[in-house]
Amino acid sequence: MNSEKRYINVILPLPLKGTFTYFTYLDNLLIGQRVVVQFGVRKLYSAIINTIHSNKPINYKAKEVLAIIDEDPVVNIIQLNFWSWISEYYMCNLGDVMNAALPSSLKLVSESSIVVHDNFDGELNELSLDELNLINLLSTESELKISEIAKLLKVKNIFSFINELIRKEVVEIKENLHDKYKQKVIQIIKLVSTNNQTKKIKLTTKQAAFVEAYETLNTKFPKKKWTTSQLLNQINFSRSILSALVRKNIFKIEKQNTSRLSHQINVLKGKKLLENFQSIALKEIIKAFVKKDVCLLHGITSSGKTELYIKLIEEQLKKGKTVLYLLPEIALTTQIIRRLQEQFGDKVGITHSRLNNGERVEVWNAVNGNNFNNIEYPIILGARSSLFLPFNNLGLIIVDEEHDSSFKQSQVSPRYNARDSAIYLAKLHHAKVLLGSATPSLESYYNANKGKYALVEMKTRYKGINLPHIQTIDIRKAHLKKEMVDHFSPKLLEEIEICLASKKQVILFQNRRGYSPILSCNSCGYTPHCKHCDVSLTFYKFYNHLKCHFCGYTQKILDECSNCSSKDFKNIGFGTEQIEESLKLLFPSKSIKRMDYDTTRGKNAYEMIINDFEQARIDILVGTQMITKGLDFDNVALVGILNADKMLHFPDFRSYEKAFQLMMQVAGRAGRKSKQGKVFIQTFDEEHEIFNLLKNNDFNSFVINQAHERKLFNYPPYCKLIAIKLRNKSQIKLDASALYLSSMMKNSFKDRVLGPEYPVVSRVKNYYIKNIILKIERQSSIIQAKVILNKIIENMLDCNEFKSTRVSIDVDPD
Ligand code: ADP
Ligand code: ZN
Ligand code: ZN
Repeated sequence: MNSEKRYINVILPLPLKGTFTYFTYLDNLLIGQRVVVQFGVRKLYSAIINTIHSNKPINYKAKEVLAIIDEDPVVNIIQLNFWSWISEYYMCNLGDVMNAALPSSLKLVSESSIVVHDNFDGELNELSLDELNLINLLSTESELKISEIAKLLKVKNIFSFINELIRKEVVEIKENLHDKYKQKVIQIIKLVSTNNQTKKIKLTTKQAAFVEAYETLNTKFPKKKWTTSQLLNQINFSRSILSALVRKNIFKIEKQNTSRLSHQINVLKGKKLLENFQSIALKEIIKAFVKKDVCLLHGITSSGKTELYIKLIEEQLKKGKTVLYLLPEIALTTQIIRRLQEQFGDKVGITHSRLNNGERVEVWNAVNGNNFNNIEYPIILGARSSLFLPFNNLGLIIVDEEHDSSFKQSQVSPRYNARDSAIYLAKLHHAKVLLGSATPSLESYYNANKGKYALVEMKTRYKGINLPHIQTIDIRKAHLKKEMVDHFSPKLLEEIEICLASKKQVILFQNRRGYSPILSCNSCGYTPHCKHCDVSLTFYKFYNHLKCHFCGYTQKILDECSNCSSKDFKNIGFGTEQIEESLKLLFPSKSIKRMDYDTTRGKNAYEMIINDFEQARIDILVGTQMITKGLDFDNVALVGILNADKMLHFPDFRSYEKAFQLMMQVAGRAGRKSKQGKVFIQTFDEEHEIFNLLKNNDFNSFVINQAHERKLFNYPPYCKLIAIKLRNKSQIKLDASALYLSSMMKNSFKDRVLGPEYPVVSRVKNYYIKNIILKIERQSSIIQAKVILNKIIENMLDCNEFKSTRVSIDVDPD
């Protein structure tokens, strides 16, 4: 192959800024293909072609591309544009975006392995001694890492050596894609004979009935391929009849590659008729989409937002478009999956973090239409990361529970917000976005008010059921009068009893897990802290240990105080475990379950609790905010919020908004289907204005109050925030870096710079932390501010004294 020399810029799956230039003489290069390149001294990577051009790099000597991995691109141009937007907007590395976006089988691991090339004919005459040695090694080892070959052969330049062999098609880079991702094989039943033949072969009555049942089923589900057990389950015959029919060659069993994605067939249900107010809202949305790209649907809990989504999806499918339905991870339950499958059958693809890599690749391939099973998913239901699937035909993105903070990835780069990124992705596809919530975020409400988004409201519940009746209980008084039973006021206990007596269910909400957040010595006040973080350890009674919620460090419970040797400890505060324990003593004959991070770690644990609760096998469910997200139970008459105060006094400008949303959402679980539900909120601060707003369901006043405060103190949505987090194991170095960075920033940005300050938890996993906040007015150029900020940080990290400081940037922090 003699073609001209070309340059390509590639994205490497590494935390590095921008792209890197390589040269190649290879033909058939396509943007979005993967190539093997060397980066650094030794390592090989699979990189993605971002651009193809003829510009030699100025600052460094380009290396040669070692091989092309794919015939067809693995990512499309829209995806690459989306990646680059994410990396610019959120100030993160392109490589980080690539890592988040691709399923791991599409990323060759750095220590790539070499195998003998498929086309190698065994002709050894033209090989050098080293090359012969390598072939010998590969014939016994079958594959070797490049680093291993370097050690065994001692050739001078291992990469050009390997490169030459790759060129001669003697060896190749082992494709981890094929290696890691193996098709799952199942055995499926096939009918061999036609009807006529069946008549000739003598069948017993039962066998004939079996064939008939099969044929009926087959007309109902013409495309479905049945495994033995699925088939027998459906038509209720014994396995021996099937075996006999296979022996008579009426049926045969075939091995087939199959999809790992579970294809439960939920029986399709008829379409629901919308109520009048729902039809009006639907028409408004459709009309809004003529002029606007984004529409905010503010519908109170149980107003039927999901039913509207279903109608909008139908409309898109008719147009031959794809729909992405985004939900917070934890809200992706069987409930919502079932509702969609009842309407759309196997057109719904589901992605969430519990999928294994094989499943991930299958969804990926089903979305880009490149799969062996002819699976198509015009509807994808997924959590935030499903934005990165290889869509090529999006018509609509639905962001349900759009206010939810879990759409923001805060912990690792890319620190993107899926709601906001969805709007950009939709723009690339010329698609529309519907944001839905009973308690929209201030940001979205602001955009709707400004006319940037359309706003559609539903203020009635389905079937006209009233919103729950919300009351507060003053536990300050109850404590003074010594009336409290553990953490329950007499009023709440009484209401729980009434509710249970009428065979209804109760949900109790406490936003803290564990038994108690602080264990404290009764004589000297000592409290055990984490070794690695600056927080007290949470006490878990069942495990009898203390645990750090930031790093996971655990230690056995102390026998005596390590300060004064007293054996007398008291619990300060309480978590869900303690509530569950008291309930079991107070209502011994009732079934009580707890749902929080600790009880839902098994693969299906979360699902099982929800099913049990749905089937009324649980009377009282205690939980953290997990129980608030999108769940739709028919039989809950009472919701109790055990301690509202903690949420209100968290030092964050969003804490009030979050508390309001959370309490509204929890309250919304009560009385959805039959009678009006009741909600009781225990608080030390009954006079707090938030409770009045909640009692009156007064979202509008809440928004106006909050907007006023945000404007007054200049917080989002009235400005943009960029948070810079600095970490260092040495507190002295951290302080120095933070001081330097903040003063450099103040030179450019003046009083838009806040901090540096220690956060509430100022040390995590042995790293000291300081935060600097940059506030930028909406009118100023945020793009320019980012450029300046990047420069300042780069300059800082170039200084030796600050090199060890880790810097992470969070644009639009939550
Ligand atoms: P939201 O998403 O606004 O909280 P849902 O869509 O979950 O509300 O609706 C609440 C409940 O009412 C669901 O069980 C839903 O199936 C039912 N529902 C809402 N609208 C209709 C309708 N038009 N026909 C039948 N059932 C409906
Ligand atoms: Zn003590
Ligand atoms: Zn810790």
